[in-house]
Amino acid sequence: MTKKQDVEFHLPSLEHRQFRDDEFWKEIPGWENIDRETFADAKWQLKSSIRKVEQVEKVLGDKVSKELMDDIRAGQHITPMNIRITPYVFSLIDWDNPIDDPLRKQFLPLGSQFLPDHPYDMGDSLAEDVDSPVPEIVHRYPDKVLFLPITICPVYCSYCTRSRLIGGSTEAIPKDTYGASKAKWEPVFEYLKKHKAIEDVVISGGDAFMLTPEHILHIGRSLLAIPNIRRIRYATKGIAIFPQKILTDDAWYEAIRTVHQEGKAMGKQVVIHTHFSSPIEITRWSQLAMERLFSDGIIVRNQAVLQAGVNDDVETMVLLTRKLGWINVQPYYVYMFDMVPGCEHFRTTLREGIEIEKAVRGTTSGFNTPTFVCDLPGGGGKRHVASYEYYDEENGISVWTAPNVKPGEVFTYFDPIHKLSVEAQKRWGDEKLRKLMVEEAIKKAGF
Ligand code: SF4
Repeated sequence: MTKKQDVEFHLPSLEHRQFRDDEFWKEIPGWENIDRETFADAKWQLKSSIRKVEQVEKVLGDKVSKELMDDIRAGQHITPMNIRITPYVFSLIDWDNPIDDPLRKQFLPLGSQFLPDHPYDMGDSLAEDVDSPVPEIVHRYPDKVLFLPITICPVYCSYCTRSRLIGGSTEAIPKDTYGASKAKWEPVFEYLKKHKAIEDVVISGGDAFMLTPEHILHIGRSLLAIPNIRRIRYATKGIAIFPQKILTDDAWYEAIRTVHQEGKAMGKQVVIHTHFSSPIEITRWSQLAMERLFSDGIIVRNQAVLQAGVNDDVETMVLLTRKLGWINVQPYYVYMFDMVPGCEHFRTTLREGIEIEKAVRGTTSGFNTPTFVCDLPGGGGKRHVASYEYYDEENGISVWTAPNVKPGEVFTYFDPIHKLSVEAQKRWGDEKLRKLMVEEAIKKAGF
């Protein structure tokens, strides 16, 4: 083999080092007079968030067509999630082409985009309620629990996996949304003390951005005081959709910093997990927020969701990965879309997930490369996309096991029907045939 002396490495481009820093919100008629200082104010962002269809029309004025507004209104009859969008995200949407915009798709659904639900969709697709020994926690993995202290978020994602709980009832789904309550958390802390195998707690929901500084401190200190708890992760989409809070809500920031410092002094990890799904979400504001967190030594990891029309192409996923790496967010996971109602238009096939991961791997360092996973319907936990036992690609049926989470159980994940061949789509239309196909796939997997 010839040794190359001077290798010209191929870099896709250096676009990932460029960050939008213009006053983009001034393109929104309702915010054309908002100066940078006001836009940076976390209180203003929260107060000015879009929560109703009428507000969309009000801030956009002539920028939005009647047809689009009608389509947005139609979407409200179908979507499992309420509208809540920060001005930051709302003004990053390309309002000259809102139909194709990845941010509009994530936060402002159109009636025309919905597809019929998959027959095996479930409100609680990941079977979290079954794995909940005490209200507000999910205990699935031997040493880790998910703690859900709140069911509100600074934005509502149309594709939320917990749409059965998060963000208040919609026309399509009644919900048991709950707010933060210290009294309800005592049984959680008791459970964690009693189960000494648990070392790792993810504080999610909902979104940790919506916990008060007092709640952040109370939860953090209560967990740090439990000897077996070694790792705490505050989960928030906030850095992606509301970086101004990191920059100007000093009381909240100080609470996180304090828990991190106190954890560090005890030899325990306190980190943030966030959720950027599109490179468009990453601007100079995100970079500034990350500079503050990084300077305080707070590690941030990212969990994206693979979404059709948002990030399901190699170029976008590579750009997202490299951009995150540049601002010191570690790209940790990319999830296959969960099988929840109202989201079929977002889903990709397992094969697409596998191929995108193959293409992303090698474009940057391994520790900065996300692992693509499928969170198994029925509660098998996260499995690497290529670790299925059997995959019938013609009918879009994959068969899985989860030896450490649910030994002896078999799980299935299904590709979106509209992406299958016409013949396979017909087979899925026949209830008896569909059951037989699933049984056959399980048999072929050796179970
Ligand atoms: S921020 Fe997370 S919990 Fe909240 S709506 Fe989005 S996906 Fe759901």
